[in-house]
Amino acid sequence: MTSHDVIERIAYGEDAEILAAELNARLASLDLPGRLSAAAELGHAVFTTSLGIEDQVITAAIGTHRLPVEVSTLETGRLFKETVELISETEDRYDIAIRRFRPEQDDIDAYAEKYGLNGFYDSIEARHACCHVRKLIPLAKALAGAQVWVTGLRRGQSGNRASTPFAEYDAERDLIKVNPLADWDIETINAHVTSQDIPINPLHARGYPSIGCEPCTRAIKPGEPERAGRWWWEGDEKRECGLHVPENASQPIPASAPLASSIAR
Ligand code: SF4
Repeated sequence: MTSHDVIERIAYGEDAEILAAELNARLASLDLPGRLSAAAELGHAVFTTSLGIEDQVITAAIGTHRLPVEVSTLETGRLFKETVELISETEDRYDIAIRRFRPEQDDIDAYAEKYGLNGFYDSIEARHACCHVRKLIPLAKALAGAQVWVTGLRRGQSGNRASTPFAEYDAERDLIKVNPLADWDIETINAHVTSQDIPINPLHARGYPSIGCEPCTRAIKPGEPERAGRWWWEGDEKRECGLHVPENASQPIPASAPLASSIAR
């Protein structure tokens, strides 16, 4: 099957779910480079990295095996300096270019005027609106024109991600989402990083297994779930930033969100 065939099939919405199910079954028996190669065969593939340890494993595979997968990151403007520094370090290490997608200043200004720059602490609505401006709009730009979206989601990251498939059709974004590390556990990730000498964020060693924006991430305590340090002040155990849940489903963005630009797709 050629990429052109696949793109045509994706154009018919009813086929895309079947295509994703076929890919999901196929990926189970492949290793990581094989899974990424199979994903890239479907068309233009974009991997969005947060520079977390799982994402570094994927970036290393793309760079080492020179796989035709574009690597992009969302520079929210609120990242830890360690994360920002790791972007350049990773580019140098694997001789790749990581595309940066940033929020629009007009959107940030409009958000700050309505909620305050750090208004995300005050309500879930305000937090979702901030993630919308700083992550979801840049994500839409990063994925524009892609047929395949590669992510570092793992089943073991949280209960919310426990049923993560290798591949699924993302109807909202009209593309196939591929999660090549879905069945890797954290011990396997750590061993792989050590054996391959993959550069990782130094914050992991300081109690941050999951790293997002600086004001919204804290170190976890022994025994806490991996993602307990993300938006820790919110009671909802299924909290996410909206990248991996439908925008109109469990975490709605308020219609009044102060956006100066719209989602590209
Ligand atoms: S994680 Fe926090 S700072 Fe980052 S976009 Fe979401 S609410 Fe804003």
